[in-house]
Amino acid sequence: MSTPYAEVIGDPIKHSKSPLIHGFWLAALGLAGDYRRAHVKPDDLAAFIAERRGDPDWRGCNVTIPHKLAVMDFVDDPGDVRGTIGAMNTIVRQRDGALIGTNTDAAGFFAPLAELDLEGAPVVVVGAGGAARAVLFALARARVGRVTILNRSPLKAMGLLATFGLKGDVVALDAPLPPAALLVNASSLGMTGQPPLDLDLSPLADDAIVYDLVYAPLRTGLLAAAESRGLDTVDGLDMLIGQAALAFELFFGKPPPEGRDEELRALLTA
Ligand code: NAP
Repeated sequence: MSTPYAEVIGDPIKHSKSPLIHGFWLAALGLAGDYRRAHVKPDDLAAFIAERRGDPDWRGCNVTIPHKLAVMDFVDDPGDVRGTIGAMNTIVRQRDGALIGTNTDAAGFFAPLAELDLEGAPVVVVGAGGAARAVLFALARARVGRVTILNRSPLKAMGLLATFGLKGDVVALDAPLPPAALLVNASSLGMTGQPPLDLDLSPLADDAIVYDLVYAPLRTGLLAAAESRGLDTVDGLDMLIGQAALAFELFFGKPPPEGRDEELRALLTA
């Protein structure tokens, strides 16, 4: 009997935590299924997708660096992800072989903030890459107030404010922060092997939330600085688990088991 499977594709791919997350949920639910990792180089992407399209056991894949833009050329886009977020992190194969592209990063990012009223609230976002696109899309939908983007390349950041119809400013990485209610690090700064993100958090509101998308390390210098200022924090595993949960249901037809997040977090940080 054939086994349905999904996978994560990227270049490099060996550090991806997605197989651990989806594998944990498959085992917890006792589902017959498999979730793998596939190292796909940019030149091989078209052939890889054509081959998988013909495999009835393939439920789809998650997509990571550097393919989040390139995959948009090979899939159907009924939700107009191309015209909105502008990057895809999930492909789902339909029974007839049609491939639907979508993005679960934006909803995964927003899930830990869903109970908050952010309408009109001033926000700071660090970064203007693929993750920042999902963040800004979600923030625009939440009708936040002025958005200050700190980024190394200012033009890219200005383009994103315009794309998402947000009012705000683009400033250098060492500019003083405005008195924001939410600060999100959507850059690679602070990741293992990357330069640190050194920000003076004192201008932030006393009840501000600091959210770092970086999950390696989990307790980044930014989150440590926020905690020592007494601010609430959200770490990168919340988004990682949130985006994976939405993709899991699309691949395997069932939501992940409830009440198992602490166990999963322990597994991911072991
Ligand atoms: P990306 O598209 O490559 O963008 C990287 C961003 O970081 C850009 O804004 C870039 O600035 C900035 N940056 C990189 N190196 C820098 C340096 N040396 N100095 C100053 N700025 C630098 O990457 P991404 O996909 O957006 O990912 C960004 C981070 O989010 C990564 O740490 C990734 O692991 C994390 N992430 C987490 C989740 C999650 O589920 N938790 C999901 C997606 C991504 P320029 O624009 O100037 O190049």
